[in-house]
Amino acid sequence: MALTRVHTFPANMLKNMTNLVHFEYVSAECRRKMKLIASFHSQESTYSHIEPTKSQHQGKKVKRWKPMCLYYTHGMCTKGDDFAHLETFNHNKCELEDDLEWKSQRKEIGKVREQKFDYFLVLDLEGKVEILEFPVLLFDVKSMNVVDFFHRFVRPSKMSESRINEYIEGKYGKLGVDGVWHDTAIPFEEVIQQFENWMESHQLWRKGSGGPLSKSAFVTCGNWDVKTKIPDQCKLSMVNLPSYFMEWINLKDIFLNFYKRRAPGMLSMMRELQMPMLGSHHLGIDDTRNLSRVLRHMLNDGALLEITARRNRESFSKVMYQFTNRV
Ligand SMILES: [Zn+2]
Repeated sequence: MALTRVHTFPANMLKNMTNLVHFEYVSAECRRKMKLIASFHSQESTYSHIEPTKSQHQGKKVKRWKPMCLYYTHGMCTKGDDFAHLETFNHNKCELEDDLEWKSQRKEIGKVREQKFDYFLVLDLEGKVEILEFPVLLFDVKSMNVVDFFHRFVRPSKMSESRINEYIEGKYGKLGVDGVWHDTAIPFEEVIQQFENWMESHQLWRKGSGGPLSKSAFVTCGNWDVKTKIPDQCKLSMVNLPSYFMEWINLKDIFLNFYKRRAPGMLSMMRELQMPMLGSHHLGIDDTRNLSRVLRHMLNDGALLEITARRNRESFSKVMYQFTNRV
């Protein structure tokens, strides 16, 4: 089923319509299409995750998995008190499903190692030509859960409008979130400004310090996100490479060196750990949640997360790696 863009409102009108899911503000035709998207989105979610069976839960009541409200993750949803909306879409701080409890795999406290960091910033960029989505989850090591998130859709800077439309429909149309993308996406340089404000609000980094992160580290699935894509996009958007992107943790390297098993991607790590994938693969916000669940599983098994890649201070494109065995 192909879904095309729903809204054709002029930009100034869009500004006042912070959440087009809110049916009362839109035309009957638009309402029909939005309902279609909402139902498609929940169908998509049903297809792409494996719901634990009753026997696995031993009769325990388990909350039904719901897709994140993407207007909410952008701070633009005004339906926080609408019961029907909250029944369909998730409005929380990305708190993770308690896999460990339902899998009865929680290990004795003694097994969990002390970490060098208080927080992990789980990052998973989307967009091959230019960055289209910038989701970061703030994972608290102490509580072993996600405590906050930063999520922005990103508008490419060097692409024509028609190319953008084609690109977004191809990427997000099939997930039914292309409409949200068009309503919320902002240029990369603005995303970086907002991200830095967000990090400051959590005392993870100080603007103007030019230094690294404080007590925290980025966690990614592979080196591509921070090593390649961030510098490429900075160049395109004429932004200096921020000082907090000098080092990161590639979860796949930690996985290989801890379990001695090679997992070339997020899905293979989840398969190895016998975890179901939740949500839509390649929707960045869902991928970061799934990666955080893998991260939590690994911490629970006793893995130590340390920096796996560092840029050379003299030449940023040169990267030094912690492990010789890498993915
Ligand atoms: Zn909402």
